[in-house]
Amino acid sequence: MAKLNGTAVDKNGDKSKYNIPQYKFLLDAPFRISHKCCDYMKKKPAKQYEKETGRLPIVATMAEESNLRLQKWLKHGCNAFDLKRPMSAPMSFWSENDVLEYLFKYELDYAECYGKIIPKLDKEQIEGQITIYEATNDYRGCQFCTTGCKRTGCIFCLFGILQDKDRIIKLEKEDKRLADYVLNGGEYDNEGMWIPTNKGLGYIKILDFLKENGLDIPY
Ligand code: SF4
Repeated sequence: MAKLNGTAVDKNGDKSKYNIPQYKFLLDAPFRISHKCCDYMKKKPAKQYEKETGRLPIVATMAEESNLRLQKWLKHGCNAFDLKRPMSAPMSFWSENDVLEYLFKYELDYAECYGKIIPKLDKEQIEGQITIYEATNDYRGCQFCTTGCKRTGCIFCLFGILQDKDRIIKLEKEDKRLADYVLNGGEYDNEGMWIPTNKGLGYIKILDFLKENGLDIPY
C-alpha cells in the first residue's frame, strides 16, 4: 500500500523508485488483476510436463531483462543445478543486441512479426541513409534493431503495455479476427467483475476503464 500511496522509502530514506501511485486507481477496477497469469499459462504446464517426463528445462531468459533475472544469475550462474527446480539458462549473459547480431550474422530464420533486423541509425543519421557498418560490411560494434515488434509475449497480454502502446493497434493490423476476439465479448460475473466469455476477452471495457483513468492505450 505504501508503494501505491507513493510513500515507500528506500534504505537511505529517499522516496522508493518502486512507488507507483499512478496505478492506485486499479485497486477499484471492475476486473481482477494479479501477477499469477504467467503461473497458470506458462509455469504450471511446464512444471507438470517436467513432473511427468522427468526432464529439466533449458530456458532463454537473459539477465538484462529484469533485476530479478540478474540477481538469480549472479547467485546461481547459467546452470542452476543446486536449485529445488534445476534449470539451465545458457543465454543469461547475452544482451538483446547479441541476439540480434547473431541472427543477422548467421542469417537465421525468426518470426515474421519482428520484421527485419537492421543496424540502428545514429542520432545524426537520416532515415534510409546507409550506415558505416553497411558501407564497410563490417558489423563489429554495431547496435541492431528490428523494423517490426521489439519484443513479443502472449499476443493479448497487457503487461508492460505502457512501453509498447500500439500493441493492440498492431494486432488489429496483423490479425483482425484475433483482435476482434481480444477486444469484444466479456460479461460481468455475479460479483460484478468483468470476465472473458467464449465470444472474446472483453478488452474494450478494460481499455476504456484505463483511458478514463489517464492511461490511453489506443485500439
Ligand atoms: S505474457 Fe502476459 S498473458 Fe502471457 S502468461 Fe504472461 S502475463 Fe499472462
